[in-house]
Amino acid sequence: MKRKENRILIKFSGEALAGENGFGIDTQVLKYLADEIKSVIDAGYEVAVVIGGGNFIRGVSAAKDGIIRRTSGDYMGMLATVINAVAMQEALENENVPVRVQSAIKMEEIAENFIVRRAIRHLEKGRVVIFAAGTGNPFFTTDTAGVLRASEIGASAIIKATKVDGIYDKDPAKYEDAKLLKEISYDEALKENIKVMDDTAIALARENKLPIIVCNMFKKGNLLKILKKDPDAKYSIVK
Ligand code: UDP
Repeated sequence: MKRKENRILIKFSGEALAGENGFGIDTQVLKYLADEIKSVIDAGYEVAVVIGGGNFIRGVSAAKDGIIRRTSGDYMGMLATVINAVAMQEALENENVPVRVQSAIKMEEIAENFIVRRAIRHLEKGRVVIFAAGTGNPFFTTDTAGVLRASEIGASAIIKATKVDGIYDKDPAKYEDAKLLKEISYDEALKENIKVMDDTAIALARENKLPIIVCNMFKKGNLLKILKKDPDAKYSIVK
């Protein structure tokens, strides 16, 4: 798939939607994120979105005491991402942004099935496409789903939206002298102390030469600044 410069995929964790309470969905946060996405669309970008499910359930935690099997826990996690996708769809429509949800697990009453050509067509028409249900397979994460979908649709980058400015050499919450790393290699990103994404996601990005931009999505206007290559914009890029 040929890369398209103005096509991006944004990956949010489920927790990003949860607001202060750390669980469920905060509609004000949804509205904020929808506004940010709208500003990027209005600037002429094509935007795809992948949202995690960690604000409801993660397979590993659900299976912790052995009562729920890991694979079932993972399917529960994938279902959680569908809840988040439907919520984000509402928030975007509320801002008059056209949007479609495509699910990796068939749920025809709720979402379209994932069909890459159709997704690309939506993007070309200016619609946001939210990819739900992860990769559709247990033992993967939504970060991996994000890298996979970004590669499939020919996005120029995956934006990993976080609450910090980017990747630091050490934990900025613990160390005052932590330095923001502007650019690192995929191999460096795989190191234990960095871990911007899980190994599978980073390895897939490396294989497809897909840049990973790590940035703060919770500073208003920041994402657009980064995309417009504003010299003051803070972020890290893995490439
Ligand atoms: N999941 C899965 N396969 C996928 C994507 C996700 O099994 O392709 C499950 C997995 O259990 C994961 C959960 O869905 O823990 C929620 O996704 P994730 O943990 O990536 O969400 P986030 O941390 O981004 O909120």
